[in-house]
Amino acid sequence: MTKTEFKAESKKLLNLMINSIYTNKEIFLRELLSNASDATDKLHFKSLTDSKIKSSFEIKIEVDKENRKLRIIDNGIGMTKKELENNLGTIAKSGSLDFKEKNEKDAANIIGQFGVGFYSAFMVAEKVEVLTKSYEEEKAYLWESEGVEGYTIKESEKSTIGTTITLTLKKDDENYNYSNFLQEYYLTSLVKKYSDYLKYPIKMECEHTRKKENAKEDDKDAFETYKTLDTLNSITPIWDKNKNEVTEQELNDFYKEKFQDFQDPLKTIFYKTEGTATFSSILFIPKAPPFNYYTKEFKKDLKLYCNGVLIMENCTDLLPEYFGFVKGMVDSKDLSLNISREILQKTRQLQVIAKNLEKKVRSELSSWLKNNRTEYEKFFDNFGVSLKYGLYSSYGANKENLKDLVLFKSSFNGNYVTLKEYVSRMKENQNEIYYACGESYEKIKNMPQIEFIKDKGYEVLFFTHEVDEFSIKMLSEYEGKKFKNITSEEVNLETQEEKTKAEETTKQYKDLFTKMQEALKDKVLEVKLSNKLKNSAACLSTKGEISIEMEKVLNAMPNSNKVKSQKILEINENHKIFKKLCELEKNNPEKLKQYSKILYDCAALMEGISPENPVEFLNEVSDIMA
Ligand code: ADP
Repeated sequence: MTKTEFKAESKKLLNLMINSIYTNKEIFLRELLSNASDATDKLHFKSLTDSKIKSSFEIKIEVDKENRKLRIIDNGIGMTKKELENNLGTIAKSGSLDFKEKNEKDAANIIGQFGVGFYSAFMVAEKVEVLTKSYEEEKAYLWESEGVEGYTIKESEKSTIGTTITLTLKKDDENYNYSNFLQEYYLTSLVKKYSDYLKYPIKMECEHTRKKENAKEDDKDAFETYKTLDTLNSITPIWDKNKNEVTEQELNDFYKEKFQDFQDPLKTIFYKTEGTATFSSILFIPKAPPFNYYTKEFKKDLKLYCNGVLIMENCTDLLPEYFGFVKGMVDSKDLSLNISREILQKTRQLQVIAKNLEKKVRSELSSWLKNNRTEYEKFFDNFGVSLKYGLYSSYGANKENLKDLVLFKSSFNGNYVTLKEYVSRMKENQNEIYYACGESYEKIKNMPQIEFIKDKGYEVLFFTHEVDEFSIKMLSEYEGKKFKNITSEEVNLETQEEKTKAEETTKQYKDLFTKMQEALKDKVLEVKLSNKLKNSAACLSTKGEISIEMEKVLNAMPNSNKVKSQKILEINENHKIFKKLCELEKNNPEKLKQYSKILYDCAALMEGISPENPVEFLNEVSDIMA
């Protein structure tokens, strides 16, 4: 029998497959099962109008360990002789792909990038036989190939319609253990991993152990093995079911098994849509972030399926970074199984799916916030930072979508508030949204500036995370109200009367402040009377865009250009230290310098800035105390 050569391009790809060091060889099984499923779909469709077809559709995997043979058997539509030639002589869909510039070293890349299809069988097999009988032809045919040399097709015998693909596995070598594909447990796990949701049962004879009837406890041969034809796949994907068909327990178990979490999910979202994008999905929000969630190592746990077949395990393009905590499965018929990662990422279908998913997650979060505040706050405790990064990232491109999903603790009652809630209870004369930054809720609560502002009846948002201030800077305003850091010197809460009085007092003590400022010349821009203090002696405020908190965050980043906030030391006129300062100005200018430094260091400490020279600080304080 004469061999027919493969078409040139097919030959090239085949060569790469056979010699590839591509590690993901196991996907050949996914490809063959998926082809079997497609063929079954076709006959299934015919059966709707042709009563002669009376199959119960299924796919079988058979193992012949002795002869190193693995068979994939389907009772689908089969192939005519012509189809065999056309389909298996060329690599479908690859005709336009250009392999010329690629060299052998790129094998892994090429195989990883392009759909691999039927030819992937050659990654693990030294010989491939396809015995097939078409729904449309009486005769059966056998296609055989041992690789690049070509293939033969001859008439053969087969009683039923369908296709049996027999792989003779390669011999094990130091790089790869092909015998794995003869192991029941290994094949089962591969089916579970890649083909769990194919809609036809994938059956395999599996060995089990049972206790013999009447066996005694101490009997050495109390157990016997037996075989059953088991269905390896789950068949119906949970996301294709209706929400009310699935119990909470089932959902929780499914989530824990698939995403290796020991806790139930906090929220489950079913989402199916048809139209511009057709897909079904199930999404989960975990109770807690994975340990590496806020690191570069973290990969989004979103699995992309095409018609029940897994095509990408961590499909990062399905949701934006700020919803990176969402895990789940998305299954779409719109996508093609044999498509490269790079091409997939650019396909319009995937982008449309991603857009729909983002919108869905957003609307779910929004109604969650409205209808179950307690649960939402639990979620926000864990993932709120992600949403705030979302506000900030991409130059604020998503701020409109996210601004009503973020929460901040506030001085109102210590609980979380939304920006909308804050604005809704702003005082009539209040034009700005006030916030304060600090390491913790407690630290902010005790800031000297807070007391005064609260006394005036204003609410203050507490920014405890380093991204908070950056994200609201990106937001810039909410419902026309600008954000203002309470430590900014521009915060002006006094009445006109208070203002005039302050101006007069400042003038009166001009010399004192000038001297103090000279003592602190590299540290502060100005020393002035405070309008924000009630009981404390002094505090720091800043002028301009950079707050003390931003200075700290930016300067902690590696390689960033150092920034410096413009600080102002504010003194409380009503504190007894003020009298002392006035006295020193007249009688002891040296001591005034010392007092100024200590006051500055203490005010800085309240802002979480350590004294530049702690020893000197201690000496100054001890000196005064002595
Ligand atoms: P693809 O599945 O993307 O078309 P493949 O190389 O995997 O590419 O398969 C080529 C073609 O061979 C398929 O389109 C199909 O027509 C045919 N084929 C493959 N496997 C089977 C099968 N088990 N039964 C019937 N036809 C098959």
